[in-house]
Amino acid sequence: MAKYILALDQGTTSSRAILFDRAQTIIGVAQREFTQYYPQEGWVEHDPMELYASQFATMMEVIAQSGISPADIGALGIANQRETTILWDRVTGQPIYNAIVWQCRRTAGIVDQLVADGLSDYIRDKTGLTPDAYFSGSKIAWILDQVAGARERARRGEILFGTVDTWLIWKLTGGKTHVTDYTNASRTMLFDIHKLDWDDTLLEALDIPREMLPQVWGSSEIYGYAEVQGVSVPIAGIAGDQQAALFGQCCFEGGQAKNTYGTGCFLLMHTGDTAYRSQNGLITTICAGISGLRPPYALEGSVFVGGASIQWLRDEMRLFPDSPDAEYHAGKVADTGGVYLVPAFTGLGAPRWDMYARGLLIGITRGTRREHVIRAALESIAYQSDDLITAMEKDTGEQITELKADGGASRNGLLMQFQADISNKNVRRPKISETTALGAAYLAGLATGMWSGLEEIRQLWECDEMFTPQMDEETRANLRHGWHKAVGRSLDWAER
Ligand code: ADP
Repeated sequence: MAKYILALDQGTTSSRAILFDRAQTIIGVAQREFTQYYPQEGWVEHDPMELYASQFATMMEVIAQSGISPADIGALGIANQRETTILWDRVTGQPIYNAIVWQCRRTAGIVDQLVADGLSDYIRDKTGLTPDAYFSGSKIAWILDQVAGARERARRGEILFGTVDTWLIWKLTGGKTHVTDYTNASRTMLFDIHKLDWDDTLLEALDIPREMLPQVWGSSEIYGYAEVQGVSVPIAGIAGDQQAALFGQCCFEGGQAKNTYGTGCFLLMHTGDTAYRSQNGLITTICAGISGLRPPYALEGSVFVGGASIQWLRDEMRLFPDSPDAEYHAGKVADTGGVYLVPAFTGLGAPRWDMYARGLLIGITRGTRREHVIRAALESIAYQSDDLITAMEKDTGEQITELKADGGASRNGLLMQFQADISNKNVRRPKISETTALGAAYLAGLATGMWSGLEEIRQLWECDEMFTPQMDEETRANLRHGWHKAVGRSLDWAER
């Protein structure tokens, strides 16, 4: 019986490998950063070979450090940065361009053209997404436009496309397997999330040959085998990082939700078998599910500036040297004294969608102290997340039953308590904060029999701390009212 599952967490700034045992204990972790390329303002690239090399190195490191035999690894699971786009030569295995990273804005013009051609509603209906350069479709088209002869070669099946999961699996299987999963496919803006197939109208609109696209499978399947020091290890789980985290938080049913409190925040609400079309600026996406069933859906929203507001106070305002200090200072005051910080540094996302909004500190009086400002910054993370929760509940007509929290800033107890208070929800933080890797491990372990099913996993999942709402309804309503007033003042500020 296999003893371990190896999760590969291929993120935007680093590749990590985490080894879990059957009891979900972390046996070892290895991590490597890789180069970020910014060839022009707003452009972001990675070197696909460096991505693979860094990921492979962490696999070897974690095996060596923990002193286990590769024969004891039951399966590999992959969680990956989403939307990042790689095109390579099927025969040589050489990328034909650098990976275009999800953050990259270079294809905004291509997306504007799709919108001008009247495809907005079609894209929303079929893919669940708001047309944006963020997703893979326009990035594929851009590379095919730029690299001489690429489109013709792609038509002949000589050039392949993959998101990072696909690329890693293709490399790990020695070019045998060209596959992705539903969660990653649902981020390409080319995938019909209802029919579960690539959409010919969108492929045609972007002139992307179907021949270059990977097969799309469930998130918990045996896709192929990786040679690890002479041992063939099944690759048996794939999910985009946010969907992996949702799964790693054991949100398996409609109404369950997780929020990852990082630089930005990513909130996903599981909506069961229903793909809701948002009226409030959220996107609809596919969740990781178990083998043999149709995959479930989620609504997703993000906060652009989450923990980054704490970084800003730390680095630009120089109010404290380390992010965790924010909790100490904010804890010195009972409230913000009526101060609100709206960190609309780059505009506001759902539910407001105002690219011209800018940051704002309001409600300042002669008695305002830095502790109030720090507290206001922490609270702003919770208020923005609360607005997403409200939008999700409006769209689905259902209540979020409880919120599972992870990410760096979820270590902040004051923030967690305020989130519980302002959203009137229980907020649970897990013992294992590596929820993304854990989700990938679950998917791979379920496909290969390490765990018998969702129930066994749920029983093994351990809560670190639960935050329950303590605030009275009147205070909550007043604070929310103040926040929305402040947000209203931040809108439409930058000159167009
Ligand atoms: P990412 O994966 O986006 O790089 P992390 O999950 O590592 O982010 O979280 C880092 C972010 O969380 C930073 O923006 C940092 O300022 C913030 N952060 C980390 N610890 C705390 C804390 N204890 N209180 C508030 N914010 C924190």
